[in-house]
Amino acid sequence: MAYDLSAMLEKISVNMSADKIKELTKKDGEFSSVYPYSVHETDGTILFMIKGQQNKKLVAVGGLSSIFQKLEGTVIHKEELRVKECPCNIENSKVIQKHFSFTRPIPLKSSPTTIGLGDRLGSATPGHIKTIKKYNAKPVLAQQSIRELNLTGRCYGGVLSDAVWAVFQEGYTGGFGADGDHLKSREEVTMALESGFTMITLDCSEHINDISGKSNEVVEKIYNEIDPQVRAKLEKEFLNKEFTLKGGLNLSFAKKDLAVNAVIYQKAVDFAIGIYNDLLKPISDNVDFEISIDETSTPTDPLAHYFVSAQLINAGVEIANVAPRFCGEFQKAIDYIGDKDQFEREFKDHVQIAEHFGYKLSIHSGSDKFSLYPIIGRETGLKVHVKTAGTSWLEAIKTIIQADPALYREIHSFALENLDKARKYYIVGADTNNIPDINSLADEQLKDLMCLDDARQVIHITFGLILQAKDGKGNFVFKDRIDKCLHENEDLYSCLLQEHIGKHLGTLGATSAGPCDM
Ligand code: ZN
Repeated sequence: MAYDLSAMLEKISVNMSADKIKELTKKDGEFSSVYPYSVHETDGTILFMIKGQQNKKLVAVGGLSSIFQKLEGTVIHKEELRVKECPCNIENSKVIQKHFSFTRPIPLKSSPTTIGLGDRLGSATPGHIKTIKKYNAKPVLAQQSIRELNLTGRCYGGVLSDAVWAVFQEGYTGGFGADGDHLKSREEVTMALESGFTMITLDCSEHINDISGKSNEVVEKIYNEIDPQVRAKLEKEFLNKEFTLKGGLNLSFAKKDLAVNAVIYQKAVDFAIGIYNDLLKPISDNVDFEISIDETSTPTDPLAHYFVSAQLINAGVEIANVAPRFCGEFQKAIDYIGDKDQFEREFKDHVQIAEHFGYKLSIHSGSDKFSLYPIIGRETGLKVHVKTAGTSWLEAIKTIIQADPALYREIHSFALENLDKARKYYIVGADTNNIPDINSLADEQLKDLMCLDDARQVIHITFGLILQAKDGKGNFVFKDRIDKCLHENEDLYSCLLQEHIGKHLGTLGATSAGPCDM
């Protein structure tokens, strides 16, 4: 498994070409630990990535170029040849990004089908790329919310760097996005932009007023407390008007509708316009702006969706995606819970509104919503953004179940013991009574656990606690062993990801070609 750089150096000569190295990677021997798609050449220096015992390394061959000088690492001489062995860290990823444009994230607003592939561990992305290469869709490879950053102990620089290395390793030149997901403040948006992210998902939930349980009179009273100038503007724009969309959807706001929507959403609208004007407008060509109003207790009805978007568009906000809250339950890591017919009816209205304003609908918590994907793909004509994240963590768990069942058993028991802490962050059913006692299961039966909704959710929502758990000496209880297991079994991990993420794209209707690529 381990590579021997000095043995490799024997085979490398001063005038060796990138093509020659690519050829050597195909055969068994000293170069078999080189990632075949990672061989790139620039400015007379050949670069490739290699699988070390603990982690991946970058090797640069040919020492006269500026990229060779700028990369951090250890120089090894072989006569007149200079070779540098470099860590795949944040600093070196920035050097790579300067020299290889395909490793820089881009906005994807003009790409019809896009999929967010959150990678909480930072090691799933090569499998994601192998999947996406086979489908007609563009990936958002770096996608993390602040909540996920805190739960995994990562930073945006590290999340992006992991994606950059995966793109370089797989030689993926198709273009990818980087999503600062569920950002709630000016400071968080600024941090994501400064880290090089090209998509901002603004979570407006803290500015959305919950009026459940409030009487019409109370709502009207709150409405009348809104600045008279703002009310006058809203009434001019919406009151007693008919909005007929191309698909036939007819929307009109009676006084009560306007009051309800203004009370619920007006602060969120103002917040989004403020963030856009101050931070995103000057760079709007280079960034995708997604408005998320999905984290609310009640579904977004078509009037509400129209009310929010019309004001943003009128204020000159360039919107890439909007994430409404749909009816039913989009629980983590399991299929949709709810009335599919109702979903389809309401979804069609949301599609019309999105088409009217010219943006994509964004489907949050899209992991494993297989029963909805045919509807979503068909109704949007595949002009849609879908976000997944936790489901790739579960594919990592499936890898561990197969490769190191004893480690899984420890993780499983820990997750059950700590479930109540995780429920603070995620609302899921996860009834532990439906999970069989792990001691009654043989190793070969463990993989069946990942087909049980309740077990999936327990492992899904405890990921942060599992990854951050430390022993009395301050060492990670699981994280290092998880990383090691996934590194050593990366082909299995990649294959499981390709199957599972491929199933998402397949049921959505994105065209595919070919089976799993190791
Ligand atoms: Zn969301």
